[in-house]
Amino acid sequence: MKTGNYFTDNEDLIACFDRLVPWERIVPLVEGAGADVAETVSTWREILSLAGRYVGNDVASRAAKVDELGVIREGGRVDMNEPLKENLRGLAALGLAGPSIPREYGGGGLPFTVSAIFFEVISRACASTQVQHAFYTAPAALIHRFGSEDQRRRYLPRLARGELMGAVAMTEPQAGSDVGALTTAATQEGDHWCLRGRKQFISAGSGDFVIVLARCVPASRGLDGLGLFIADRRIDGNENYAVERAEHKNVIRASPTCALSFDGTRAELLGPAGDGWKEILTFMNESRVGVGIQGLGIAQAAFEAARAYGAQRVQMGRPIREHPLVAEMLLDMETTIAGLRALILEAAVLQDRVLFAKDERASRELRELTPLVKWYGAEEVIGVCRRALQLHGGYGVVTEYEVERHLRDSLILPIYEGTSQIQSLMAVKDLMKATLARPRSLVGRGPSHVLAAASFDGQAGRDYAAARGALVRTLRGLVAGLARRRGLDFVRSKRELSEEEQGPFLLHAERLTESLAHLHVARVLCEQARRLPERRHLAERGARRARLVAERNARAIGSGDGGVFERIAAWRSDRTP
Ligand SMILES: Cc1cc2nc3c(=O)[nH]c(=O)nc-3n(C[C@H](O)[C@H](O)[C@H](O)COP(=O)(O)OP(=O)(O)OC[C@H]3O[C@@H](n4cnc5c(N)ncnc54)[C@H](O)[C@@H]3O)c2cc1C
Repeated sequence: MKTGNYFTDNEDLIACFDRLVPWERIVPLVEGAGADVAETVSTWREILSLAGRYVGNDVASRAAKVDELGVIREGGRVDMNEPLKENLRGLAALGLAGPSIPREYGGGGLPFTVSAIFFEVISRACASTQVQHAFYTAPAALIHRFGSEDQRRRYLPRLARGELMGAVAMTEPQAGSDVGALTTAATQEGDHWCLRGRKQFISAGSGDFVIVLARCVPASRGLDGLGLFIADRRIDGNENYAVERAEHKNVIRASPTCALSFDGTRAELLGPAGDGWKEILTFMNESRVGVGIQGLGIAQAAFEAARAYGAQRVQMGRPIREHPLVAEMLLDMETTIAGLRALILEAAVLQDRVLFAKDERASRELRELTPLVKWYGAEEVIGVCRRALQLHGGYGVVTEYEVERHLRDSLILPIYEGTSQIQSLMAVKDLMKATLARPRSLVGRGPSHVLAAASFDGQAGRDYAAARGALVRTLRGLVAGLARRRGLDFVRSKRELSEEEQGPFLLHAERLTESLAHLHVARVLCEQARRLPERRHLAERGARRARLVAERNARAIGSGDGGVFERIAAWRSDRTP
């Protein structure tokens, strides 16, 4: 694997940091109105440079070994392997265990925009390390947001020093995407709470404590009546819950993904009983952007390998990158990565405006972007890794070349923190709501204010407008279908749609999401090119792709349901006795 400084050697990332991120907006939010923007940004740049050097040399050099050793399972004990622990110790020694934990609790106090760059850099080196590292900051964010001052003081400083690692447990064997089906129960017994139940697929589940989403209001159902609870792994030297096993898996192999069992586990409430779903959603939205960032780092690693190999491998008398098919693969990868980075940085800046200034408008825009960042950062990144492996020919499947690891690791991205299908449903339900609230937008630039407000000059601008036009036409077709089946009054009535009425939107949710994500990517790349004209080619490629994707999806959606609903009806009647 190529080593070096993973921050300063990445030209696109440095261009974004130095010339595109609106620091003049972020610095005052984080450091106060009088803060010196240039000085603060220079400090943050130094921190990232220090991190980039350590990660790009030490962590990157150990990544293959970390992956090869996987999870340690000895005498029923589940643990991280030694090189992975060394990575985490090294990061902690540099003061980088909890970059976003507030300074008053011993953390780095960095804005999300800066930590996002740091997380990208670690993911590029070693996805397993990045996942484990995330379980200093993820539980810390929940405890900081919803915990009492006493809970903050007990957990945050040790998380910030990397002395404790937590986990966050929602999923259960029967409750995956359907979180509301969870059955782990929390009951109050004397002065404390007790947990009973099982959790499945818990990242870093072999750590020191876990934050558990459990049902705490008796007879509640679905997403109501849940609460968050902190359970320490050991109390007075005794196991407080069981780490039953770590799954054997082929993605992020060294991150222990654990099954946990609670049987009278002593726990303390985090935030009000009954607010668990609302609380965990704040975490999930952040970690969905986090998965996009992880995807970005993995894609960058795969691209670096492919770029170097494409220049060096000679076939038929020339480096393979000079064959048009290979050249196009490289350009596609570059466009995807620059587009994803631009989208993530926009989301990160919005996140800082939400976190530090409770900015409502930023919160609405972030809600629109979050499932798209997650979807694009998963599905498109798999495409990048797949092409990087293909570009290596036979060497692509040889472990020494490491692109096979990047492809394997990329396969987790569309699964955790809400699958790609769940992200699509979220994005499209919001889009449907906005469309039915303002059907008139369908004779204009469409229901998304952000997409509608953007317009650009030149070929990129024409392609962007054509892509948006294809999406709006598609939505018009779907709404017209609804009006045909239910009558126009129905569309005007603004009542909630039944599942059956939503059917065509849900069937095509992933196509609509793909078009939306590409449109936003084209928009951010065009906005960047307006500020930095040398990025015009990237913007043109992004906009061209957005148009091609939106037109393809418009045709697919316009061609009907392909017999899907008929088959569902048949399966349903099979189930009915
Ligand atoms: C390595 C790893 C780490 C993880 N870490 C954590 C963690 O730290 N904490 C935690 O709580 N969980 C964690 N998870 C769990 C993860 O979030 C779930 O696996 C994920 O939410 C999907 O749930 P499931 O596996 O039960 O799949 P299911 O929900 O059963 O889904 C199966 C398939 O059906 C599709 N599907 C389901 N419902 C619908 C629908 N309504 N419409 C369309 N398609 C649908 C899904 O997209 C998927 O393709 C982790 C999982 C893995 C593999």
